[in-house]
Amino acid sequence: MRDLKDLTRPNIWSLSPYSSARDEYSGHEAHVFLDANENPYNQPYNRYPDPLQREVKALIAKQKGVREEQIFLGNGSDEAIDLVYRCFTEPRKDNVVAIDPTYGMYKVCADINDVEYRPVRLDNRFQMSANKMLAACDEHTKVVWICSPNNPSGNLIDPEETERVLMSFDGIVVIDEAYSDFNRSKPFRKRIEQYPHLIVLNTMSKAWGCAAIRLGMAFAQKEIIGLFNKVKYPYNVNQLTQLKAMEILRSPLEVEKWVSTLLQERSRMIEAFRMLPTCREIFPTDANFFLARMTDAQSIYNYLIEKGIIVRNRSRVALCDNCLRITIGTKNENTQLIAAMRQY
Ligand SMILES: *Cc1c(COP(=O)(O)O)cnc(C)c1O
Repeated sequence: MRDLKDLTRPNIWSLSPYSSARDEYSGHEAHVFLDANENPYNQPYNRYPDPLQREVKALIAKQKGVREEQIFLGNGSDEAIDLVYRCFTEPRKDNVVAIDPTYGMYKVCADINDVEYRPVRLDNRFQMSANKMLAACDEHTKVVWICSPNNPSGNLIDPEETERVLMSFDGIVVIDEAYSDFNRSKPFRKRIEQYPHLIVLNTMSKAWGCAAIRLGMAFAQKEIIGLFNKVKYPYNVNQLTQLKAMEILRSPLEVEKWVSTLLQERSRMIEAFRMLPTCREIFPTDANFFLARMTDAQSIYNYLIEKGIIVRNRSRVALCDNCLRITIGTKNENTQLIAAMRQY
């Protein structure tokens, strides 16, 4: 691996970050806060939140089996995705390599940051070849993006191929595990100690049922987390989000119940779809959604909208010809979709 300084944009490496009032004070128990020009009235909304979200991280560390200094929290995973570009890639010079098809934000952030994006086609089972990924890399490749379970296909990327990329690529490897709570495979989050250039993304938006609060996580060794902390907005995670996140993090059993219900429902949905004359193929899934190849995705999509049911039409995505991506909903919602499909 190249050393971190060599991978980091020089302006970011040498950046002195904004120092907020709450950064500068630490240690002693204080009870009079006259340092941040806040209004003393209107509690509890009047105070700036903790810029490093220490209480939230303490709970996440326990839940996820990592150390607090190995956690970055952002305004959704999207913030972490953007920070990867802003910390490591030089616009118009560096490039990144990603599996294709995959989650759209990696490319959007590349475009925003004016960084070349190199998609590498998965095979027709939506599996990655490490050799193909490595062949797409050159001396200006700073980042490799892997999403597992992948979106929109739903399958886990073969961990052995992923490990091959980790062993051979000398830059940053990001593994997006937004859906890792929905399967039993060993998450790469547990291997950040082993790989100093690995960044793993998680989110509160899926299994944890908190898409509205916007809380994404990145796990990596503390040197990378330190870079993210320098570049992020000082108060990037607001107090309401921090409070709500702590509430849900204290109820992991509730989340486990949701996940097991969703997995049962997923089996029921897949069985029902298999029986439909309009369904040609269902791809293996390790997430809370499945990808189905239909006879005519566009007209089924339009028909479902008429019925007030929205699914995702992925027909125009690579390898996803005539495919709908269907999220698992409540039992009642799933039953409505199945009933509508049987009437089509
Ligand atoms: C849904 C999803 C996310 C979540 O993004 P947030 O900004 O945290 O809501 C991240 N990655 C993938 C692949 C997703 O499908």
